[in-house]
Amino acid sequence: VTSPPVLRFAPSPTGRLHVGNIRTALLNWLFARQQRGRFLLRLDDTDTARSSEAAAAAIRRDLAWLGLVPDAEVRQSDRFALYDAALARLAASGHAYPAYETAEELDLKRRLQRAAGKPPVYDREALALSEANRAALETKGRRPHWRFRLDTDEHVRWNDLIRGETALDPASLSDPIVRREDGSWLYMLPSVVDDIEMGITHVVRGEDHVPNSAIQLQMFTALGAPAPAMAHAALLTSVGGELSKRIGSEGADALEAAGLEPIAVLAYLARLGSSDPIEPVASIEPLIESFAFAKLGRAAARYDPAELAHLNERIVHGLDYAIVRDRLPAGIDAEAWSGLRTNLKTVGEAAEWADVLNGTVAAPAQPDEAEFLKTATDALPPAPLGPTSWKAWTDALKATTGRKGRALYHPLRVALTGRETGPEMATLLPLIGRERASARLAAQDD
Ligand code: GLU
Repeated sequence: VTSPPVLRFAPSPTGRLHVGNIRTALLNWLFARQQRGRFLLRLDDTDTARSSEAAAAAIRRDLAWLGLVPDAEVRQSDRFALYDAALARLAASGHAYPAYETAEELDLKRRLQRAAGKPPVYDREALALSEANRAALETKGRRPHWRFRLDTDEHVRWNDLIRGETALDPASLSDPIVRREDGSWLYMLPSVVDDIEMGITHVVRGEDHVPNSAIQLQMFTALGAPAPAMAHAALLTSVGGELSKRIGSEGADALEAAGLEPIAVLAYLARLGSSDPIEPVASIEPLIESFAFAKLGRAAARYDPAELAHLNERIVHGLDYAIVRDRLPAGIDAEAWSGLRTNLKTVGEAAEWADVLNGTVAAPAQPDEAEFLKTATDALPPAPLGPTSWKAWTDALKATTGRKGRALYHPLRVALTGRETGPEMATLLPLIGRERASARLAAQDD
């Protein structure tokens, strides 16, 4: 029996979630749920200057809104002792080394390399420092930063769950700095230490992390730990076509403010760039069931807010009353909801119809229709109005006035709803009720 998978979503708490990292969270979550594994939230907050409690709270909130609730949470700022110990081990085994170049010196090195037509890869000069050299530097007050020593003998290879066989030549990379001279940690090593300690079985993230994965796979080896499976999803492009980790203002807060259903966001992002169709779903279950890394394509997928809005609309049209009742204004009951929903782009729009059904409407004056509306008022069927009332009423008016089509229906719709368009009048009329209908017609019949 293999143990269930453990996945993590590891945002830096420096801002709101945006569509790119919502998708990363979702891919992790879907696989964890499908495989009955665990989904953990890891707050990558080693950068204490840029991380904030408010951003961490917003991330939790955004995940809760989406329904991607983690099974547990860890934060890197609680775990510095683990990183200290790991670096000490790497230093002892020769996998990490201190370096003393200043930022200016490193910058100069890179410029010289570029000028000579060479890639700006760190030349490992620090490896040549003797004990005495280092002591001399330290006496002058210089503090080292720490680099991880890449094994550049052969390519790093892994079978990526999305990209397939992937290989990277580490000789094209600089030995990464893992700890700064002020003692602060960069992302690279703490992530591996945590992945080991948290028992992460699958690392799922954006394609922009492919070079990091090559480095981190070597770190797993250097720390004597088995490597997790890796899955790198192609990045999203915006409609303009520009590749980006952060697309515009499409933060979770903006999606929520636009009135989108969380399930629409999930249905869209789960299938975007995959071989499964983007289609309306009523719950997360079909997304969990159909999920497979192999269905995700390697080409960048285009995130189109208009497509998302359209999917949302199709989902709203099928939403059960039980799902939305808490968000509906008073007076929109199950019957009203089922009459209204197919005309709504968002659930929030139902509020605009609450007054039409239960309150007052400000219908534009229709002076030319006064006589017709008087006839209509008199012909209104008796209470209670039902699903056939509209047809009976308008059939009778057709017979008595000779009107048909728009001339028949439009003045009635305007008088009864105050609007030019909307749900079927056959549905609306019984919801408005005879008393209100009669009063609204009478208000316009002279
Ligand atoms: N904090 C990193 C990021 O947001 C995590 C990447 C990872 O999943 O390892 O890019």
